[in-house]
Amino acid sequence: MCGIVGYIGPRKILPVLIGGLKKLEYRGYDSAGVAYLENGKLNILKEEGKLAALEEKCIGIETENTIGIGHTRWATHGAPSRVNSHPHTNEAGTIALVHNGIIENYAKIKEWLEKKGVKFVSETDTEVAAHLINHFYFGDLRAAVANAIEMIEGSYAFAVVSSEEPDTIVAVRKDSPLIVGKADGESILASDIPALLEYTRDVYFLNDNEIVEMKRGSINFYDEYGTKLRKEITRIDWDVSQAEKGGYEHFMIKEIYEQPRALQDTFSPRLIDGKIDISEMGMDEDFIRNLPKITIVACGSASHVAHVGKYIIERVAKIPVEVDIASEFRYRKPLLLPDQLVMVISQSGETADTIAALREAKDNGVKVAAVVNVIGSTIAREADAAFYTHAGMEIAVATTKAYDTQLLSMYMLAYAMAHVRGTITEEEYNEAVRELTLLPEKAENVLELCEQIQHIAYERFMDEDTFFIGRGLDYALAMEASLKLKEISYIHAEAYAAGELKHGTIALIEKNTLVVAIATQKDLIEKTISNIKEVKARGAHVICLTMEKYLSEFKDQDSVDEFILIPDMMDMMAPIIGVIPMQMLAYYITLDKGFDVDKPRNLAKSVTVE
Ligand code: GLU
Repeated sequence: MCGIVGYIGPRKILPVLIGGLKKLEYRGYDSAGVAYLENGKLNILKEEGKLAALEEKCIGIETENTIGIGHTRWATHGAPSRVNSHPHTNEAGTIALVHNGIIENYAKIKEWLEKKGVKFVSETDTEVAAHLINHFYFGDLRAAVANAIEMIEGSYAFAVVSSEEPDTIVAVRKDSPLIVGKADGESILASDIPALLEYTRDVYFLNDNEIVEMKRGSINFYDEYGTKLRKEITRIDWDVSQAEKGGYEHFMIKEIYEQPRALQDTFSPRLIDGKIDISEMGMDEDFIRNLPKITIVACGSASHVAHVGKYIIERVAKIPVEVDIASEFRYRKPLLLPDQLVMVISQSGETADTIAALREAKDNGVKVAAVVNVIGSTIAREADAAFYTHAGMEIAVATTKAYDTQLLSMYMLAYAMAHVRGTITEEEYNEAVRELTLLPEKAENVLELCEQIQHIAYERFMDEDTFFIGRGLDYALAMEASLKLKEISYIHAEAYAAGELKHGTIALIEKNTLVVAIATQKDLIEKTISNIKEVKARGAHVICLTMEKYLSEFKDQDSVDEFILIPDMMDMMAPIIGVIPMQMLAYYITLDKGFDVDKPRNLAKSVTVE
């Protein structure tokens, strides 16, 4: 998500800031801005859209000043627009700040500041931080930042300047990246290494809640209580393309590893006083209570999310759900009910078929809500309401973190609706909320399977066919696992409802055919075990994904060749965590085959054609 740069040194500031932001363009953004200090005055330039627009604005501005901060914004709160873009300032325009991340409790802070008379100009979560720092500013910018972060919950990398301290940049981070480069007579701050490499390879990595105070000729680090810290310099020997991927070999694996953070960003801002807030869906309680049906429309991986959505919404909120592929929905003249909901799901918000489906539904006078990642995208704008997944920019064509955050969104919607409709008890609701809160941590734990998955990939990358089987929610996961594998490794892969295999497809199972069986649902495990036995009897090599707590169910039979064990959780939540090893399997198999993981053949990231 987004890019931050900051610079103190002898060079002209604007080219340095714009140049640095260009190196961070790969992270994705929808607007950009800079703040620099000149003759004791803070100047701000910002523009919606590409960096070129900002660059054009800088033409003819001759400035010798040498302190400034810059930002490329990837909107999470408020549409991409000039006023929402960063830097944001206090009312007097003396403090400017850029931010990467999400301030989860911004609404509360905003209310508190508004009561004190502060006027807000943007729709962003970020703006509260500028006013908050101003509130705590009594001549010491570092102290003001330290006080402000004490009140702020969420993820952030902040860089702050003030016209009252024209030789200082203060920056701090928590769960969003920020690094400081030290060169001869100059220092530079950035979200990522590519922006620094032109100046230096000597870098300090900021840890959570460490504050850096950069002044002309000095860089000092402090903890949040003001104690000075000694930090070691790291010498970077990566090349530029490696650096853009944060040291990972590909964007896909980087994005797989970003999932714990992404899940957190989807969930935490909507957990308000222990309750899931889905007000962004634009449905009042009466509407939710009276919903006769929901139709979920999507394409590709998002349609697998829709399948999970169907299972859980029907199960917990007791609303009938119909799932449709957008390219089918748009032409099949679907029967829609006037007071139902159509939900569309899209990462980019630009998927042509999904846009057409959305319009079709609206033409029928039906309310449309979108679950979408890219703020201000066509789908987000045209739908009656948009629920953003906050996964951050996704670059690899094969979706991972966007998929998983869409999935999590389905759970949040299902449980919030169930709560309103009274279809689950208060206790069940609270337990689900507790389980959802634990998911980021479980996602982190499951990444530890990496070594085992690499091993499996190495054993199986020469396969020509793979079958994924499962029942219920496990079938929905099997569909996504199968698509992930085939779209990047080009191995023929199919997903089958485990009970359906014997009605034809089992004819394809022969000696050593790989069958990945997914069995995470207690009430279905026994049935899936029977299906595993059926394929084993025909010579299949069976890998079974299950939870640790269910391993004992497999005790007395030896049909499984290898288990992939994910941490224990409520059965319902298993698809969110179970998909991660499946993504890794597709990734490592493709790596072993030597194909381009991030840009598979014949595919585009956002499918804007019919
Ligand atoms: N949440 C902030 C916004 O929407 C920052 C987004 C970013 O990281 O670019 O403005």
